[in-house]
Amino acid sequence: MATVVSQVKVKKSRKEHICNYCRGKIRKGDPYRKSFLTNDGETYEWKEHESCHEVAKELFWSGFFEDEGDGMSAEDFGECVKELYEEFFPIDFKYSIQFKAKELAKLLKTHKLVAIRPNGYTTGWKMVEIKNEVKK
Ligand SMILES: [Zn+2]
Repeated sequence: MATVVSQVKVKKSRKEHICNYCRGKIRKGDPYRKSFLTNDGETYEWKEHESCHEVAKELFWSGFFEDEGDGMSAEDFGECVKELYEEFFPIDFKYSIQFKAKELAKLLKTHKLVAIRPNGYTTGWKMVEIKNEVKK
């Protein structure tokens, strides 16, 4: 199981990086997060767009992504983002995962992702507007 050892929030990237979630570019000057993870004694670095971070967090919390103990890989993230985007935005294949994650992150500033569970089973997902509460 992957464990986060440390995480720093970088306000402005000093050089270009690749986001480990969407595999898009983190441009110079963009905010991003840098983490160190350990998995079976191996340490590695993980970089993510601030927007991808927000989306990933929601995917975990809402249960949209079911963690099987290995955390979320770029493949998992890509699949979840694609699925989620198509639920709430018109389907358009020309957009990248990075673009879709950014649009979802914008929506998640005012909404939260909630499972529709009429009989205890998840049948779908909805975005519920957050009222009278500041999301951190
Ligand atoms: Zn990203």
